[in-house]
Amino acid sequence: MLRDFEQELNNLETRYLRRQLRIAESPSEPTITIEGRRFISMASNNYLGLANHPAIKRAAVEAIERWGVGAGAARLMSGTMTPHHQLEQDLAQFKQVEAALTFGTGYTTNLGLIPSLIDRDGFILADRFCHASLIEACRLAKARLRVFHHNDIEHLEKLLKKRGRACPTLVVTEGVFSMDGDLAPLPDLLTLCRQHEATLVIDDAHGTGVMGKNGRGTAEHFGVNPQDLIQMGTLSKAIGTSGGYVAGTASLKDYLINTSKAFIYTTAQPPAIAAGASAAIRIIQHEPARLERLRTNRNALQAALTNLGFQLTDTQSPILPIIVKSPERALEMAQALYEAGVYVPAIRPPTVPKHSSRLRLTVSSEHTQEQLENVARSLQETGQTLRVI
Ligand SMILES: *Cc1c(COP(=O)(O)O)cnc(C)c1O
Repeated sequence: MLRDFEQELNNLETRYLRRQLRIAESPSEPTITIEGRRFISMASNNYLGLANHPAIKRAAVEAIERWGVGAGAARLMSGTMTPHHQLEQDLAQFKQVEAALTFGTGYTTNLGLIPSLIDRDGFILADRFCHASLIEACRLAKARLRVFHHNDIEHLEKLLKKRGRACPTLVVTEGVFSMDGDLAPLPDLLTLCRQHEATLVIDDAHGTGVMGKNGRGTAEHFGVNPQDLIQMGTLSKAIGTSGGYVAGTASLKDYLINTSKAFIYTTAQPPAIAAGASAAIRIIQHEPARLERLRTNRNALQAALTNLGFQLTDTQSPILPIIVKSPERALEMAQALYEAGVYVPAIRPPTVPKHSSRLRLTVSSEHTQEQLENVARSLQETGQTLRVI
């Protein structure tokens, strides 16, 4: 017998954990239309406003005209077209590594990467706040998996020492944590990995295009050598399109082409999406003002929220989470903001640990100062009404 779906959904409902889809009737922009009403959107990872950028749309439309809609086959069959090849070269150059390999989504990039790196005889240490796709990937890898406390170098060291006989070891974490907006301490992690002959793998989904002087990612932010670690990232957030990538050595790329199931047994990404991603990487490199605006905006909103007395996480990115603890409170806040014309999602377990439900605001380079002031004002009103501040 299958479980009773309705009953399970009702159980979620009574615990304020049921989720539902909201339909956007507008493109991904600083505003969003839902049920015919316009809201300021603080709910998109489109950090640089590239998802609906005219030049990127044009690149994708031209690529559709030239290459068609579907790739027609897996990458190893006949699905690797010029735009895929070009994108991988652009990514390798942008990430300052030898080679990059793209996948259909960020989620499947992790599923395709980790199990190819390590086997039953290996050991994986993952940060407790790692994204669900990383945890799934680690489980799929069949290696022994241990979780270290979030960004806790001492705990990680203790676990590395307890590993016993030397075995292939991965330390897995995120460059920018997706639900907290804080950064992994890459220099300390690399030192520890070097001492214990472990390899560092980072998921830079929210660092790509966002962190570092040129937006190359969290490794650039910390000034660490990209050759010293394996990086994956997504094309779906700041890059504004869809897909994921691994950035590393040419031999890693070749090895993944030969072993990674999530790379081999799936149809290539649509060529127009690859062309769009290449155009986005060009814009990021040629228009540094965009990244500047993003930083100005996130600093302004973070300062406003902190001054109002909101409890933010230790964020250093455009992800500004307001911790309200209970899922009920998070939903109430989100609903009150919705009524005030501000769209912010309530993030609840299992996406975040128990007692840490939150509103997760994401800032874009394209938000106007007026919009951000409006958001702060609405938060002040609802925060006071609901006694969050
Ligand atoms: C969004 C995200 C992914 C998944 O990327 P998609 O391109 O959306 O599939 C993976 N890891 C992290 C940390 C993410 O935030």
